[in-house]
Amino acid sequence: MEFDTIAAISTPMGEGAIAIVRLSGNEAISIADSIFKAPAPKKLREVATHTIHYGNIVDPETLQVIEEVMISVMKGPKTFTREDVIEINCHGGLVTVNKVLQLVLNQGARLAEPGEFTKRAFLNGRIDLSQAEAVMDLIRAKTDRAMNVALGQMEGRLSKLIKRLRQEILETLAHVEVNIDYPEYDDVEEMTHHMLIEKATSVKTEIQKLLQTSQQGKILREGLSTVIIGRPNVGKSSLLNSLVHENKAIVTDIPGTTRDVIEEYVNVRGVPLRLVDTAGIRETEDIVERIGVERSRQVLKEADLILLVLNYSDDLTHEDEQLFEAIKGMDVIVIVNKTDLPQKIDLKRVQTLAEGRPVVTTSLLEEQGVDELETAISSLFFEGNVQGGDLTYVSNTRHIALLTQAKKTIEDALDGIEAGVPIDIVQIDLTRCWELLGEIVGDSVQESLIDQLFSQFCLGK
Ligand code: GDP
Ligand code: ZN
Repeated sequence: MEFDTIAAISTPMGEGAIAIVRLSGNEAISIADSIFKAPAPKKLREVATHTIHYGNIVDPETLQVIEEVMISVMKGPKTFTREDVIEINCHGGLVTVNKVLQLVLNQGARLAEPGEFTKRAFLNGRIDLSQAEAVMDLIRAKTDRAMNVALGQMEGRLSKLIKRLRQEILETLAHVEVNIDYPEYDDVEEMTHHMLIEKATSVKTEIQKLLQTSQQGKILREGLSTVIIGRPNVGKSSLLNSLVHENKAIVTDIPGTTRDVIEEYVNVRGVPLRLVDTAGIRETEDIVERIGVERSRQVLKEADLILLVLNYSDDLTHEDEQLFEAIKGMDVIVIVNKTDLPQKIDLKRVQTLAEGRPVVTTSLLEEQGVDELETAISSLFFEGNVQGGDLTYVSNTRHIALLTQAKKTIEDALDGIEAGVPIDIVQIDLTRCWELLGEIVGDSVQESLIDQLFSQFCLGK
């Protein structure tokens, strides 16, 4: 495939001082040559691939020196996009970087759309769709663990698994063909029947296993939406502050991402907590008072985790009991705070109300019990599976939807086999399953979907 040459500013994560103007396409190197002057004159077109060159960016019309740079020359196809790639490393701040970009555009490059570099990598066959999506997840990852998941997916872990499943279905379909072509052989049919059940069951089990990781996968990717509730003065703000201070808060307003709302994230042992309505807790103390009973019910309902705070040195009140009532059946950790003060609370009653959900005692004033709380949070979501990095998680909503449909079709196929429906009907279900799995890696996806997926990316990626 051949495309025009694209360019964008792409700043590496966590490195504010350096900005990179990246170009990709057939003209990338000659465009760079037209504005580059090395101390000892050279043509980038002639240098070895994957080398770095020092020099100046010069405006060819005014001959004015714009910026001192290092230029990386990477010739296709051994590049991220499989095209010729140029990276102009600038250090002079946003204004000069923009000037360099402008020059590059004047020389014939086109400003890249968000995600267009990654899209090219996909279109040129360098990566599949699930890997491309992982690039975006990686940019947005909120914890190391989330980053590992994205990296695993980018390396193609999910793709490999999906491809293996598709291969199995394909082999099964081949056997079915034989059966359709030679129906007179009874033993072929007998074999086919057994083999079908066995293969379809094994594919179904694998899809199920993947789907089981989706809950955790989604949490890693999007954060666990967490609400702190409790009566006034029990220590909600103190809890919030202690969580934010103990755990590096994660800033999520990466420039250029589509996320507009700045949310507060904390990383509790690899579990990203998205603290909902923290402003409410900080300012008015009472979420119900601030946003009304109905809204706060809604907020509670949508939360993944509730932290209910009680006062150790106070009797349980009617209000406390009502809060327990409001969060029935949800993931809750009960925090009994102020253990440094004399006990008045009935802990047995608290245990009863908690209905088996974890109860942790703390003195936030004396910084006691926060460790236990963090253990409770992480074990609630990653039972026994401390590292998690080696697991193939699915976290992408699109993948989850496709896997769910694929599982349904394989179940239909199995039902059909059991019920003795004609084998070519079973074949239809299996084929559909094969197609659905294909959509995860980008086989048989419509162009419009591809455009939509890539438009969510950051610029310059
Ligand atoms: P909120 O109204 O639920 O947000 O409660 P705050 O976090 O604002 O705390 C109310 C008061 O209780 C403040 O004066 C805190 O310093 C105090 N407090 C919080 N945690 C503890 C604790 O563990 N022990 C004691 N003795 N006081 C605490
Ligand atoms: Zn407070």
